[in-house]
Amino acid sequence: MSDIIHWADVIADRILSEKDSVRIATGITPSGHIHLGNLREMLTADAIRRAIDEKGGKAEIVYIADTFDPLRKRYPFLPEEYENYVGMPLSRIPDPEGCHGNYAEHFLQPFLESLDILGIPVTLKKAHEMYESGEYAEKTRIALEKKDEIAGILKEVSGRDVEEGWSPFMPVCKNCGRLNSTRVTGFDGEKVSYVCKSCGHEGESDLTEGKLVWRVDWPARWGILGINVEPFGKDHAAAGGSYDTGKRIAREIFGIEPPFPIVYEWINLKGKGAMKSSKGIVVPVREMVEILPPEIVRYIIIRSKPERHIEFDPGIGLLDVVDEFENAYHHGDRSVELSLVENVVYSDVPFRHLLVVGQIAEWDLEKVLEILERNGHKIDEDLRRDVERRLRYARKWLEKYAPDNLKFSVKKSRDEIKSVFSDDEKRFLNEFAESLGDNMDAEKLHKLVYEVAQKVGIKPAKAFQAIYKAILDTKHGPRAGYFLSSLGVDFVRKRFMEI
Ligand SMILES: [Zn+2]
Ligand SMILES: [Zn+2]
Repeated sequence: MSDIIHWADVIADRILSEKDSVRIATGITPSGHIHLGNLREMLTADAIRRAIDEKGGKAEIVYIADTFDPLRKRYPFLPEEYENYVGMPLSRIPDPEGCHGNYAEHFLQPFLESLDILGIPVTLKKAHEMYESGEYAEKTRIALEKKDEIAGILKEVSGRDVEEGWSPFMPVCKNCGRLNSTRVTGFDGEKVSYVCKSCGHEGESDLTEGKLVWRVDWPARWGILGINVEPFGKDHAAAGGSYDTGKRIAREIFGIEPPFPIVYEWINLKGKGAMKSSKGIVVPVREMVEILPPEIVRYIIIRSKPERHIEFDPGIGLLDVVDEFENAYHHGDRSVELSLVENVVYSDVPFRHLLVVGQIAEWDLEKVLEILERNGHKIDEDLRRDVERRLRYARKWLEKYAPDNLKFSVKKSRDEIKSVFSDDEKRFLNEFAESLGDNMDAEKLHKLVYEVAQKVGIKPAKAFQAIYKAILDTKHGPRAGYFLSSLGVDFVRKRFMEI
């Protein structure tokens, strides 16, 4: 255990010093695939929830899905006719792929599945249901009655002018269905009258047929849901931003205390160009949790303080994170503790080895276990279960995210090898085959490459190349010692003699 107290424990202690039961809010708009950057909000909340629970407090995460937000523009992944839906609430737009009840649901549902896989329990609130059922009505009435005061706060805190006739409420136009194009012209305490700038319609609307603007919606939901803690992105935290205005609106308009804020930084995705360019979009969380074990996805975020920027590389860079996780796992580490989902037990087989052994064994579990046993691992039920689970991820990761130079296939017979071997290379392979001892482990085999290369008089780099050519028909491959011991001495001896 490190001497430095984990950030989640520091925050949990601060919260618990004031309250022993809290509701933590999170909010994400399902306007497109929900990605790793969005997940930071959920995992920041969940790390704090766990820390509070462990310390004897009570914490609940409320996830408010902003299903009533308007579609801001036609995103590149949307067909042309979606131009017509811009400005309409996401919950009232058809699913672009036709598989769910509406647009919001299409992106929300896979994200909820991901939360389940990642072990993040949430109480789900869909914004459109909250408005339509009247949960917002009381706060909406107050906001409409005090609109001039709110406008004053917005102007004072954000430093920007509030336009003439501004209203905190956006009714949905009964004619064209848009909610960001209506202008409120009056309020009689029950209904608002409006005119639509988009279609010219003039009408009346009650308070369940529309939505508060974001800067008022946010403090309103703090009050409605009794929120005490909320992580949010740094855009909301900027001076004069929506948290600053929200704080004052909460206290001065709604008479409530704003939640304890936890500001987090962005996550950038780097790595394989193909992944970024594929659809011009980020990797959806739902896809990521198919390819990486949940504890690794959690660890990527939980190991960094919320205020630290994360550069995430799902390609080769991921292996460094996995190494770090495995090392920390075996040494007892708070970030690891807060990342593990259910009772996952890691064996001593590194993920890197599973990539090599899996490819040699063509992902056959029994063969993999045989090789691991030959490499000195004690095969018991725990190891079996662990290897079976992580082998699946190793395979998927290799197929989807790994750079090509980590992929290989062992040629089954000499005939499949097209590479040409020089006399030096042939002499090296022969001499190496003859020097092989039955009980040589990875380290001994690695040393043997150097010894035989020197004896035969070729450079080690050439010797390694000859090995890879003889087995994979390529000039590079995984670290030779572990690779050869995984293949088994008999196979290596026979193949090298054949060359
Ligand atoms: Zn769908
Ligand atoms: Zn209209």
